[in-house]
Amino acid sequence: MKEQIKLLVELQNKDHAIDSLRRKLREGPERLQELAGELQRLEGNLENDKERVQELKKAQRQHEAEIEDAVAHIKKSRGRLMNIKNNKEYRALIREIEETERGNADKEDKVLACLEQLEKLNEQIEAGEKDLSARRDHIKSEEITIGKETDHVEKELSDMDGSRAELMQSIDSQLIVKYEQIKTWSGGIAVALVNNATCAECHLSIPPQMYNELQRQDALKLCPNCQRIIYWKAAQPTT
Ligand SMILES: [Zn+2]
Repeated sequence: MKEQIKLLVELQNKDHAIDSLRRKLREGPERLQELAGELQRLEGNLENDKERVQELKKAQRQHEAEIEDAVAHIKKSRGRLMNIKNNKEYRALIREIEETERGNADKEDKVLACLEQLEKLNEQIEAGEKDLSARRDHIKSEEITIGKETDHVEKELSDMDGSRAELMQSIDSQLIVKYEQIKTWSGGIAVALVNNATCAECHLSIPPQMYNELQRQDALKLCPNCQRIIYWKAAQPTT
């Protein structure tokens, strides 16, 4: 039994190493996905900025066309002033010209505001495009790095799976069934070390008689509290 428990601990160590390799295998693609998501978000922002530029340019053109029309209208009205004899009509037309001029001043302010926003947006777009291109380069180099890492980890994993299968052949099949069952409900740790008469997983003090028996290592013992297979310190493999 002593030898069997020792092999079981070895199996557990291997299983943990395999789990951590599998986690590593998932990390690369997850990281790439995260980067691609970020890139997509930035591309969306840039697209919005570009659309906003088109809208502002359109608004600017519209204000400018309206100003031009108003200027032509004012010119025509000034021409009409010469022929008006009626005082009331004359004043009304003057008032209309003044109103149109005020309207034009407002529109000129709007054109200026458009130009200011356009300048800011164009700077933002330029910076955004630089950032995007840097990020695309970064993703490309990450893909290469992760690809190499993945090859390496896959090789390690396949070696580890092979040596695990080999190890399983030396362990009693009923013991393996028990190990797998406990592993399933115990969060991956089926075999617990007992150190100073205490279960290292649930921290229960092992009763003295059980502790004595455990040190003889001639029978399978379960922790009375967490039900894991327990082993004494000396049974811990030195590797
Ligand atoms: Zn325990």
